[in-house]
Amino acid sequence: MACRLCQISAYCDRSRTLDARARFGTNRIELRFGEEHLSPTVKEIGAMTVRDESPLKIANDPEFRPDLAFTPLTEAMVERLRTYGKEESYPTDSPLFTHGDRGVDMFVILQGEVDVSLPPSVAGCKTIWKHRRFAVAGELNLLTTQACLVDGKTVGDTTVLRISRQELQRLMREEGDIANLITSAVIWRRIGILGEETAGVTLIGHSNDAATRELQRFLVRNSYPHRVAEPSSMERATSEVDAGLSRFPTVVLSDGRSWHKPTISGLADELGITELPDPGRIYDVAIVGAGPSGLAAAVYAASEGLCTIVIEGVAPGGQAGTSSKIENYLGFPTGVSGLRLASRAQLQALKFGVSFAISRETVRSEEIDGIHQLTLAGGIPVRARSVVVASGAQYRTLSVENYRRYENCGIYYAATAMESVFCRDKEVVVVGGGNSAGQAALFLSGIAKHVHHLVRTHSLAKTMSQYLISRIEKSPNITLHTRSEIVALDGDLSLDQVKWVHHGTGVITAAPVSNVFVMIGAEPNSGWLFGSVTLDKKGFILTGGSVGFENTPYATSMRGMFAVGDVRAQSVKRVASAVGEGSVVISDVHRYLADHRNSLAAERNSALAALRSANAAAAHDTPDRVEGRQ
Ligand SMILES: Cc1cc2nc3c(=O)[nH]c(=O)nc-3n(C[C@H](O)[C@H](O)[C@H](O)COP(=O)(O)OP(=O)(O)OC[C@H]3O[C@@H](n4cnc5c(N)ncnc54)[C@H](O)[C@@H]3O)c2cc1C
Repeated sequence: MACRLCQISAYCDRSRTLDARARFGTNRIELRFGEEHLSPTVKEIGAMTVRDESPLKIANDPEFRPDLAFTPLTEAMVERLRTYGKEESYPTDSPLFTHGDRGVDMFVILQGEVDVSLPPSVAGCKTIWKHRRFAVAGELNLLTTQACLVDGKTVGDTTVLRISRQELQRLMREEGDIANLITSAVIWRRIGILGEETAGVTLIGHSNDAATRELQRFLVRNSYPHRVAEPSSMERATSEVDAGLSRFPTVVLSDGRSWHKPTISGLADELGITELPDPGRIYDVAIVGAGPSGLAAAVYAASEGLCTIVIEGVAPGGQAGTSSKIENYLGFPTGVSGLRLASRAQLQALKFGVSFAISRETVRSEEIDGIHQLTLAGGIPVRARSVVVASGAQYRTLSVENYRRYENCGIYYAATAMESVFCRDKEVVVVGGGNSAGQAALFLSGIAKHVHHLVRTHSLAKTMSQYLISRIEKSPNITLHTRSEIVALDGDLSLDQVKWVHHGTGVITAAPVSNVFVMIGAEPNSGWLFGSVTLDKKGFILTGGSVGFENTPYATSMRGMFAVGDVRAQSVKRVASAVGEGSVVISDVHRYLADHRNSLAAERNSALAALRSANAAAAHDTPDRVEGRQ
């Protein structure tokens, strides 16, 4: 059962703590959580990660696993579920859900069958699954705000247990083993759907068109089923006739509607990828950014009973989401793609009830009477008692045609053992005049056939440590090209040629290079905070010490606002440290909310208001009752 105060989490023991405190006659009710809160959560997380190979579909992997997609509930589980739903009977051919529906209920089949099919297409109507006794009907949209991708209708007289969305959320919090079974099943079903040729949307656009690629990247990074098609010659001709204005990219939705040149945020809303914030709610914590640090914070916050919203400008995963393989993250001996890691983390957060406003950048932040007012792109307001800034950083990029095309398949931002494998006995280029570029050049010089080190300035003297400059000068394997810049990147599937120009002579050099290391620094995504929190001179957020509003390493200069991960000055710019910071900052958030609960605005009927009045009631508890208990 959910805590009667926060009404969110089964694991939130505010009400139990309250009762205990009331019994013991103390008027101090802590919002901190003991072992008993964490144990079930950790157990569940453990159970989820056992199915280690269950990511959402990325490119062509993994193989669909029907055994995991359709594991039936046991009779005992169904009995437990009866308290969450009501039995309903339907004649044959009754639709239970239809593609495009939002907030679809969950159905457990008690008797009869349910056929699940993809929406009708030119290829006709395709039944993809048949659910029988004790199966749960539904797919990933059961846990998200996404519109339903499939149709489900009864075959023969069918009796189901219908569980409403609200009750489903309660169930996911209270019934750990069933929640894990459902989570695993819906992930695998989505993987199955991703493998279907006609599922989801069709993106029509030219393969070399940046807008088409951006939409495609958005769909891929959000694991949304889609296919990409080149415009037919007829479509091309028509669009040219249209006053020379191209209608592409065009997205054809599952109900057949065509949408020319959609915006990312418009498409996210249409497909239900984004969940718009509730304007009437004050969230306990708003997390800005869904990279590794933000996702970790979201999982810990929601699993520990905080009403949590994540605001993400693009797609979950952040920088890590663009990495094809993260080799140094604990627990994945063969590496894990950033997208897969992010998809799982997002799902884990969804399971605990986190709201995700995807494709909505935070553009402004202000604090009024202890409440943080965030403004999202388009003027959408979000109110929260605390904020975790996890907006990360972006590696600086070069302004060269085709640059994005080769990111992760020829252009890298780190030179580690992983990247070095691709460089063995090959010519490589390192761009940048700082120490990280120098270290990378030296490291790669021991592996690559030759390192071309490009800098725009006349020398390295002003930007690099002398010991590195000396070693670079001594290395026969490194050529320093001063006053030089890359002007062209070429290659079919991956990069195979790089051209650079020497600004003094104008000479252009072409070299057979398939790996370029761009090490020209990172820029923090902190522009939206200018003027509101203290930043260092590079724009990273200063936290802790004399700057922080309280004495923790993650407190910014603004009351109730914390910063974690790459956006934080002095943080280690790695996935593991980002996840670590996102996880531990939540204990600071709890402490902040507990310490400031009397000064924070509380709405009537809110958990905070209830807590305050209960607190006041507890303060009036008589001393003899206290003594009697002790
Ligand atoms: C190509 C690449 C490969 C890498 N490989 C590795 C590796 O193998 N191992 C390793 O340890 N590290 C690696 N890193 C570094 C690692 O990815 C980062 O350290 C880590 O992602 C930082 O996490 P974060 O959550 O702090 O920030 P980010 O990952 O930067 O995430 C920040 C998120 O916030 C969002 N955001 C930004 N501004 C706003 C706003 N105003 N409103 C809403 N949302 C916003 C962004 O869209 C982004 O999704 C790699 C980085 C890159 C770029």
